[in-house]
Amino acid sequence: MTKNPQQPEVNIGLVGHVDHGKTTLVQALSGSWTDQHSEEMKRGISIRLGYADATFRQIPGVDAPECYTVEEETEDGEETEVRRTVSFVDAPGHETLMATMLSGAAIMDGAILLVSATEDVPQAQTAEHLMALDIIGIENIVIAQNKVDLVDRERALDNYEQIKEFVKGTVAEDAPIVPISAQQEVNLDLLIEAIEEEIPTPDRDETEDSRMFVARSFDINRPGTTWDGLMGGVIGGSVVAGKLEEGDELELRPGREVDEEGQTEWRSITTEVRSLQAGGNMVDEVQPGGLCGVGTGLDPSFTKGDALAGQVAGEPGTLPPTREQFTMDVELLDRVVGGEEDEGIDEISTGEPLMLTVGTATTVGAVTSARSGEAEVSLKRPVCAAEGAKIAINRRVGARWRLIGIGTLK
Ligand code: GDP
Ligand code: MG
Repeated sequence: MTKNPQQPEVNIGLVGHVDHGKTTLVQALSGSWTDQHSEEMKRGISIRLGYADATFRQIPGVDAPECYTVEEETEDGEETEVRRTVSFVDAPGHETLMATMLSGAAIMDGAILLVSATEDVPQAQTAEHLMALDIIGIENIVIAQNKVDLVDRERALDNYEQIKEFVKGTVAEDAPIVPISAQQEVNLDLLIEAIEEEIPTPDRDETEDSRMFVARSFDINRPGTTWDGLMGGVIGGSVVAGKLEEGDELELRPGREVDEEGQTEWRSITTEVRSLQAGGNMVDEVQPGGLCGVGTGLDPSFTKGDALAGQVAGEPGTLPPTREQFTMDVELLDRVVGGEEDEGIDEISTGEPLMLTVGTATTVGAVTSARSGEAEVSLKRPVCAAEGAKIAINRRVGARWRLIGIGTLK
């Protein structure tokens, strides 16, 4: 795999039913297999979310769409021009990971919905993922009708009509539908063209307060390193606003639980940015798009083993509040994700435990008060979240947590 020449500038989610070709498509566009990154830091995050960066290029002097490619050189050895680098978030198709996909969606600027031409539309997760995009309000969508190499023309057209019918009245109603074969690499130029048109890089405001969602944290020192050789703790995640620069002061919330004379309290942590990594390179600054690693001045014991996963980082004094309880507006799904066709969802009731995913944080809470369309929860572990934050709500059904709705923090 070649290194990308730029930092990724936009995050694109890959959603759709299991086996419809999400991972294959990411591989075709990025040359990397999201399920197995070599580098330690990337690997840990990709297991949770499966990121891979890809650089879209164009062949000089060739018309669209044939000019679009991900290759550095044409077959004749002519160099291609870089358009932009994008970061794909390959949502795990398995229904138990829907909450992860939803929390990942908080950082998606757009999405590709993959639909296999070999099956009837919609399959269970096709419907669920589209519903999630609809609820979260991701409007920049491209539909890739995949595996067209396996069907004849008639079947492909029939499937196309099914897709059209299915997206009617949803956020994807006007999304372009591009027939492709991810495996045979057919029509990828057309797909890139559609992505370039439908999922533009959002205008970023560099002067906004910096904000990073922490997905992982670790200690990169080898066991037995003496104090004078110790490196500070590392956090990994996504910048979602502003930018981070080497030397910046950084506050992390909720921070650490401190115990003082029998009283426990969460206190934010402050440190500084000592080094930055993005797109596989050491860099001086990081803006939204893709993943980054931040070397900090923190005691590595604070960051060990994902201890800071789910926290929010930014310029000291600018972070949203740490909340040990909150009220949310609740929108329940039509049916249990991954459940039987007719398994409806009961209203949330006072006293029941819920598992909540907020940004990159997952926490368990007890419902202290439930009204129709609204619930008040008290959390075991606090979260740092702004008003309006989206929350994936999971309920215990049998032995498992199942996604039942989306909350909006009040
Ligand atoms: P995911 O679960 O959505 O990530 O699906 P995968 O990318 O793992 O693909 C599932 C299976 O479908 C794999 O065996 C792929 O090789 C195969 N596959 C994916 N895309 C295509 C395609 O365009 N044509 C054909 N024939 N097979 C494909
Ligand atoms: Mg996959």
